Amino acid sequence: MPGVTIDKNHCKGCELCVQACPQHILSMSREITLRGYFYARMHDPSRCIGCRICALTCPDAAIEVHTHGTQFVLFDY
Ligand code: SF4
Ligand code: SF4
Repeated sequence: MPGVTIDKNHCKGCELCVQACPQHILSMSREITLRGYFYARMHDPSRCIGCRICALTCPDAAIEVHTHGTQFVLFDY
């Protein structure tokens, strides 16, 4: 099953990944980081398809996507 790791200390809370995720499983936390930003988190990991769009969208490279086994591809890139 795919998995996503978000480094909250590199997240600046821009919400681009939240808007980009085709599964709508990313959202912003209610807590802030030491830098004072709300950070992105995944609220429904079981629905992640490992498309990597969130990681490609993040301007701060704060997201890593791990896939094990089947990966569903939505776009060619
Ligand atoms: S890998 Fe795709 S489905 Fe999974 S959180 Fe990122 S954008 Fe959403
Ligand atoms: S795109 Fe990156 S910096 Fe922006 S909210 Fe998502 S993880 Fe944070």
